Amino acid sequence: MRTLYMRIIVTTMVIMITSAIIAFAVSNSYYQFYLKPEHDQKVTHIAKNIESIYKANNNQPLPAFLTAITDLGYKFHLVQQNGESQTFGEAFSSSKIEQADIAAVLGGETYHGIANYPWRPFITGFFDNDLANTIGVPIQADGQTYALFVRPDTTQQFGEMRIFLAILLVLTLLFSFLMVLISTRFVVKPIKKLTEATKKIAAGNYHLKLDVNRHDEIGRLANDFTKMSDSLERNEEKRQEFVSSVSHEIQSPLTSIQGFSRTLREENLSEEERSHYLAIIEKESKRLSLLSKQLLTLSSLDSEAEKEMLPYDVADQLKEIIHTTEWQWREKEIAIEIDLSPTTIIGDPKLLQQVWMNLVENAIRYTDPGGTVTIRAFGDKTGAQVIVEDTGIGIEKEHLPQLFDRFYMVDKSRTRTKKSTGLGLSIVKKIIELHRGAIMVDSVPGRGSTFTVSLPDK
Ligand code: ADP
Repeated sequence: MRTLYMRIIVTTMVIMITSAIIAFAVSNSYYQFYLKPEHDQKVTHIAKNIESIYKANNNQPLPAFLTAITDLGYKFHLVQQNGESQTFGEAFSSSKIEQADIAAVLGGETYHGIANYPWRPFITGFFDNDLANTIGVPIQADGQTYALFVRPDTTQQFGEMRIFLAILLVLTLLFSFLMVLISTRFVVKPIKKLTEATKKIAAGNYHLKLDVNRHDEIGRLANDFTKMSDSLERNEEKRQEFVSSVSHEIQSPLTSIQGFSRTLREENLSEEERSHYLAIIEKESKRLSLLSKQLLTLSSLDSEAEKEMLPYDVADQLKEIIHTTEWQWREKEIAIEIDLSPTTIIGDPKLLQQVWMNLVENAIRYTDPGGTVTIRAFGDKTGAQVIVEDTGIGIEKEHLPQLFDRFYMVDKSRTRTKKSTGLGLSIVKKIIELHRGAIMVDSVPGRGSTFTVSLPDK
């Protein structure tokens, strides 16, 4: 049974055969317990009628009378007192009968061979053409008592019906089998298609068109499969884009480091020039180091690294951030305003520290000297909100949708010279999502930006 097709066919056949066996056993038991006694009664009634009809018209010999009524669908076995016997109608398959039973009928009793006929699970006995499977009644003729055994001639009575039922049964089985053969193909076909599609995906071919027009489980599976292959394709594209961005971001500082170190090797450089180039080399290598650190952070966040969730006061954490970044805002003469009420949140303090640090550093970095950065934190029934607002350069509307994408920088030429990688906000978004929170940005170019982080209550 290597294929699903064979498995379904064999299972269906086993089910059909098992059902037939069970159905036969149940209906056979029904026959044995309810129909057989009724049948016995019916034949007893007929046997007694024959006896009384003969009694009323016994001007003809009994053998001639019995021969005449065999045409009505009954067969007879007549036994005389002296043991001689004669059969009328088609011969019995087995003429075995207890002598005591014959003697009892000759003595005036009725023999109920049909009701007492032994039964076996798969043999009804209804069609058994045995002398033991008859009704015996005493009958008077020529001044002596005979034992008359009667049973229906099933071949005569049900011959055509038996053929009809046999044809019905055989055709039902044959057609069921053919239908199963055909319908199984329809069930298995889309699965074969899915298997082919899986192989294609494994080989890296995501452009799939599964034309499975079904609305059942297999249709839904095909639908989900197509969605999965689309999402795999998008992921693959994103991965390639990411790899090329990473290579590009690494390549450009490396090129400038190489270029400046070559220049430094030239001897006719003033001390001032030399220190200028060294400063650039130092800045670029710092950028490279930051880049690799942020890439590591992103990859650990992507692999859903363990979070250490605990309740703590985010206001305290934000105050600490303001303290840590003091030299940056003091250097740029930026005013810091705070509105921090004690706000307990449940989160990973180390990860959220990076979020606040990125947002506050960005606010300082993209705000001109003399500007203001405002940091607010408050909580309500639904959760906590942290807002970082600046009076900086702002962001044009068209950049907002991509702002949180990896390596996205609004103004590459401007930010390239600064400590900037374009990864900060994507890390922020990832961490907030890991906390089931949300981040929103509102910005007016030339007036400033507001980043609002909402964290759920639990
Ligand atoms: P970067 O390392 O370049 O700061 P981010 O992901 O943190 O990377 O930010 C992406 C881009 O969003 C930045 O290059 C910058 O152009 C813009 N940006 C972020 N924060 C601000 C802000 N507070 N004001 C203006 N622009 C901002």
